[in-house]
Order: sequence, then structure tokens, then C-alpha cells
Amino acid sequence: MPNYFPLPYPDELIYSTIARYIRHHNLVDVYRTKPTSFRLDLFGNDCKPAVDIPVGISYLVNNTTLKNYDSEEEIVFKHTLFPYYTAFAGVKHRDDLLDGLLGNRNWVTRWNRISIFTPVCTSNSLKFCPSCIKDDTTLRGEPYWHRIHQVPGVHICPTHETYLQIQCQSCGESFPKDSEEYLALYDVCSNGHSLLNTASQEKESASLDKDLRYAKDALNILDNPTCYELEYVQALFRAKLQYSGLASINGKVHVAKVCQALVEFYGIDFMRRMRSLPDDNSATNWVNILFGKQTNPRHTHPLRQILLIGFLFPSFDAFLASKPEFLPFAHSPWPCLNSLAGHFNQDIITDCKMSRSKSLPPIIGTFTCECGFKYSRRGPDTSEADRLRYDIVVDHGNILREKIRELYFEKHLTIHQITKRLGHSYPLIRKALSSLIIKTKSDDDMRRAYREKVIALIEQSPTITRNEIHNKDRRILLWLYMHDREWLDQICPQ
Ligand SMILES: [Zn+2]
Ligand SMILES: [Zn+2]
Ligand SMILES: [Zn+2]
Repeated sequence: MPNYFPLPYPDELIYSTIARYIRHHNLVDVYRTKPTSFRLDLFGNDCKPAVDIPVGISYLVNNTTLKNYDSEEEIVFKHTLFPYYTAFAGVKHRDDLLDGLLGNRNWVTRWNRISIFTPVCTSNSLKFCPSCIKDDTTLRGEPYWHRIHQVPGVHICPTHETYLQIQCQSCGESFPKDSEEYLALYDVCSNGHSLLNTASQEKESASLDKDLRYAKDALNILDNPTCYELEYVQALFRAKLQYSGLASINGKVHVAKVCQALVEFYGIDFMRRMRSLPDDNSATNWVNILFGKQTNPRHTHPLRQILLIGFLFPSFDAFLASKPEFLPFAHSPWPCLNSLAGHFNQDIITDCKMSRSKSLPPIIGTFTCECGFKYSRRGPDTSEADRLRYDIVVDHGNILREKIRELYFEKHLTIHQITKRLGHSYPLIRKALSSLIIKTKSDDDMRRAYREKVIALIEQSPTITRNEIHNKDRRILLWLYMHDREWLDQICPQ
């Protein structure tokens, strides 16, 4: 005969529902003193209460009226801290743990193997929000233990944005998590003092924003259970660190810099309170363990993963929307921005070298086209239009040089005229021209050698034109043009 069992309230721990069950049935809850206690009815054995993730949920669901409402998996995901602890464990591990939890097989061994259940910032007492007690009493007739309040490191109620309590403000009575009884939450302590008293509540705290962000992110994880593959989350973190300069262009994480930036961001007191101040010793430093290769990064507690999310992403939604790739200039191919090229603005460049700049924006991309045009731009790009922008032309390439040569040597334009025609600066044209003219130690030697080469070419084919000589050896013709023009005009008229 299934027992009547109260329906769990939203965000209620199943532990709390069991405590309410005891209250509703007026049962005396004494662990291991009454072998035929209600615990046998609910769990099939006389197990000790567990707040975060109790075992025996399958038996509980199948032997009470709960089965009319929720599956055992729904109870685990909606009314235990299972989604929090397994959020970054990877699907395979999570399913393995769920299997162990519901089947009650090797449960502890499995947790230990994955090592994410190691205590970090775990409170010894159940935590409560006076405003929630008030609201729940008004709305449902009784208060209950909220799941989000019991998450390690949560010190603030994300609904009321006030600090949680761990004891009666009048007599100091607390509600130990390792109690052998199921403790129900009332609006008074056992001495009759109101738990709604918030007189000594922390009103202003330097870390209020950080506490609130952590609580909201943890609530997000509980309310939308997703199981992230650790490698995927690492890649998201790494890409973000690359953008901010805390990892190299190639993805090597600068652990010391990350630790320093983390502590600067959260403050040393907050990190201490979260039991997450990165250790100086690299073997036990959790940032190093998360990004290092030598150890098992699954040791990283979800609390610390959430701290990194808070540090790296402006919101949890930004974390969800981020991509595990470092692409400050989006994908290849990129457009050639050489206005003289036939492929101007066409996406044909596949060669992009990235480097780091000390000033902002922090990443420099240098794009080289096959036509020789090479430009650089600071990034990351913030819009599609940025793709058509450059900061510096590193090399204008051969198309421009050829054009200048033609205008100067063949069309006999002055540098000023070329400047106007091509829309480039005077120094640029002059520089390009000087690079076209071969510098030599001895003009006489060059003159003799180049004259001989031209004569030899004319002897080989007496009708050879100046353009044909240019095509055979551009340097010779350019040099003679600049240094021995009279002779050139005589022997090989235009
Ligand atoms: Zn509250
Ligand atoms: Zn009291
Ligand atoms: Zn090009």
C-alpha cells in the first residue's frame, strides 16, 4: 500500500519533503533506534538522512504516492544537488553516476572515481532565507528547505538578493546537515524565536555582486540541467582566455596570470571564503589542474568552474552562447583589399598570421594575398564590416610596383602625377620607385655588364623590342633606364 507522500515544492530538496512528510504524519524520527521506523517504508532500509543527494530515491518513488507525479529521474534532477555536482562531469560519467545512484550500486565508489564531490566551501549547516520562509508560508502554508540555498558557495538568495542565514539570530541554534534526524524548516527555532529576524543580516557587502552572480549561475545550472563535457568547457574557457591575452595565440594558458586576474576580479576575501584561492604550489593549484595536461582535470569542483564562468563571461547566457574557438577574425578565406587587383574585395586570402599587441585592441592579424598585397588589422573583429578594413598595408605587392614602373618609366609621369593617379602618398611612390632601381657599388661595372647583356639579346634577335627585353630581365632594363638612358634610347628605341 503506497504511502501518502507530499509533493515536493519548486526548488525543494527531497530531503526537505521527507522532513515535511514526517511532520505531516506526526512521526517520531529517530535514526537506528526504531528498526521498523518510517524509513523502512520509504527507503527499504534504515538509512541516514542525506541533504545533497540521498540514496534510495527509486524505492521512495516506487513505494509512495510520488510515483503518480514524478519519475525517479525527475526527483533526482529537480530535487537534489545532482545536476550541480555533475554539470561538468560529461554525459558518460553523469549517466554512470545516475545509474549508480538509482540502482544503489557502487554509488560512493563512482563518486570518488570522478572526484567532483570533494568538499569545497560546504556548509555544515542547512541555510535558509528569511524572506523565502515568509513567502513560502504565505503562498503554501509552510516553509521548506530550498535546494539553491544548499549549493556549496551560495551565500545569497538569488530571489530576494539577501544573505542566507545558518542559525537563529536570537539563540544561535543551527540546523546541522549531518544530523541523524530529518530537520524540517519552520518559521521559528526550537526555542520559539522567529527565523524571520533579519536584524543582523549582512546588508552591504563588497562581494554582494559576486555572491549574487554565483548564486544565479548555480540556479541556472540547477534549473536547466545540462551536462557539459569537460573538454568542451575547457575549450570555451581557453578561447576566452586567448581573447583576453591570458592565453597565448596558440592556446597555452598563462596560469600565473589567470590566478592573479581571478583574485583581482573577485578579491582575496571572497576567494578565501569560497575556499578557492589558487595555491602557489602548481601541483595543487586548481587553475593549473584545470588547464594542465599532467593531471586529471575532473578534480575541478563545479564551484570553481562557475567562478571561472563568472570571471570570463559577462553573463551565464554569454557563456552558453560562446564558441570553443579562437577566431578573432572569423573564418578563412578573407578578402584581398588591393584595389588594383582584379580580385579586389574577393575572399581569397587563406594566410593570416596572428600576433599579440601590448596595447588595445590586443590581437593583430596580418593577411597576405597571393598577389603580394599584405595588410594588418587589430582585432578581434566586432562586425562583418571589419572584414573589409585594414589598419596598415604592410606590402602593396607587385601589382602596384608594376603600375608605378609603367607610369614612371614608360608613360614618363612625374612622382606627383603618379601620386594623383594612384591615390597613394608621395613618400610611398618614391619608396616604391627606389626599390625598383637596383643599387650598386660600381655604376661603371653595372653599366658594362648590363650593356653587354642587352647587346647579346639584340644580337640573338635583332628585332627585339624594349618590352621584350623587359620581359626577359626586368632589372637590366630598369637599371639602364635610370642610369644609362641615352645609350638605351640609341640602341633600342622605344
Ligand atoms: Zn529568499
Ligand atoms: Zn532561537
Ligand atoms: Zn590579392
